[in-house]
Amino acid sequence: MSEKEMIALECPHCQGELYQPLPWFKKASFLCPACEKALKAEDFATIIAALEEEMDAYHAELIHGETSATGGCCGSKGHCGCGKGH
Ligand SMILES: [Zn+2]
Repeated sequence: MSEKEMIALECPHCQGELYQPLPWFKKASFLCPACEKALKAEDFATIIAALEEEMDAYHAELIHGETSATGGCCGSKGHCGCGKGH
């Protein structure tokens, strides 16, 4: 996953949009750029976890799509030990 993934979340204080890279929301504490109130990573922990799960699923789908496009069972050429005899 890219560490520079930008996400937009709503500030719980002013409902302003926070458009920042994912790691920004994981800091222990930070200030809302709009209302300058203190925010904490735990304010966003639930939504971040959900987002990361979504991204993981998305990337897993991409990888899966690539391997089936090459026609292999595991995406590697030659013997792969998967028991399918290639
Ligand atoms: Zn705010």
